[in-house]
Amino acid sequence: MAHAPDASAAAPADALGEFELIARHFQRPAARAVLGVGDDCALLQPVAGQQWAVSTDMLVEGRHFLAGTDPRRLGHKALAVNLSDLAAMGAQPHAFLLALALPAADPAWLREFAAGLFALADEHGIELVGGDTTRGPLNLCLTVLGLVPAGAALRRDAARAGDELWVSGVPGEARLALGHLRGEWALEPAALEPVLARLERPTPRVALGLALRGIAHAAIDVSDGLLGDLGHVLRASGVGAEVLADALPRGRVLAEQPEARRRACQLAGGDDYELLFTAPAARRAQVLDAAAGCGVQVSRIGSMGGEPGLRLLDAAGRSIDTGFPSFDHFATP
Ligand code: ADP
Ligand code: MG
Repeated sequence: MAHAPDASAAAPADALGEFELIARHFQRPAARAVLGVGDDCALLQPVAGQQWAVSTDMLVEGRHFLAGTDPRRLGHKALAVNLSDLAAMGAQPHAFLLALALPAADPAWLREFAAGLFALADEHGIELVGGDTTRGPLNLCLTVLGLVPAGAALRRDAARAGDELWVSGVPGEARLALGHLRGEWALEPAALEPVLARLERPTPRVALGLALRGIAHAAIDVSDGLLGDLGHVLRASGVGAEVLADALPRGRVLAEQPEARRRACQLAGGDDYELLFTAPAARRAQVLDAAAGCGVQVSRIGSMGGEPGLRLLDAAGRSIDTGFPSFDHFATP
């Protein structure tokens, strides 16, 4: 997009021009799109009987990732968080767009960023079909398009009283790593390494989302904290829920933490990109088969129904205060 040129921002001699940058780092032959990167628009062929699942997520330096973050990991994470939204709808990844503001066209940074991005894209058969590139503070905005058979998407408003509540993986590990990076607590290297990988290289649960179509009722990905994201499902579906705090998976590292820290990470930690979903109790075996089929751990952590709102219970059935805020960019601290 051409706007008023910024005369003060002269490019360094070795920097790439905008079109050279796109051609070198982001243009690859179109595999499935009718027309990919290079024209005014990409062209995608609608598929009979399928709906488009479309989502955008923005990553801003200093807000979603720290300045100096390894570019390969950033390329992975930028796409992973977007693929996670497709997973949470049960959509098959198809194509994506990349809008990029860069302070400078640094070829080494771009090479690493593109390597991280395309490695994950190729793993999921999703194709980059366009975008926008401009100079500015580092900011990445991806738009993903997925396909889902008409009516089969896993929507937030589809939870029903009597459903069981499930979560994939081990929510809370990413927050545990973030607390270490922020100096809130200190983890030993052997503890830090696996949870840091969860923060920096999250695994979008795409295969699980696809396998849960026709089995689960509602799904959401845990990006802002388990209780907060569950709250979105409760409001959209008009049901209540009971969550069993001690049924939450711990993994080795969370299990070693003091209870208050562990619970705060599990219940209110963001950035895990695990799937939180509901399914009828009669489909419990199908849920377990679906998860086993894609090699993902799932845990049954509660049930939907009862009074409206969210009740958190300990192992003895006593109510626990749920006063954990979920992450909100505009909430005053
Ligand atoms: P326009 O001026 O029509 O917006 P641009 O000059 O911005 O077009 O982009 C030229 C082509 O390169 C378009 O096909 C656009 O989708 C693509 N493109 C621009 N930036 C990126 C990027 N970061 N990743 C992928 N494709 C890009
Ligand atoms: Mg443009």
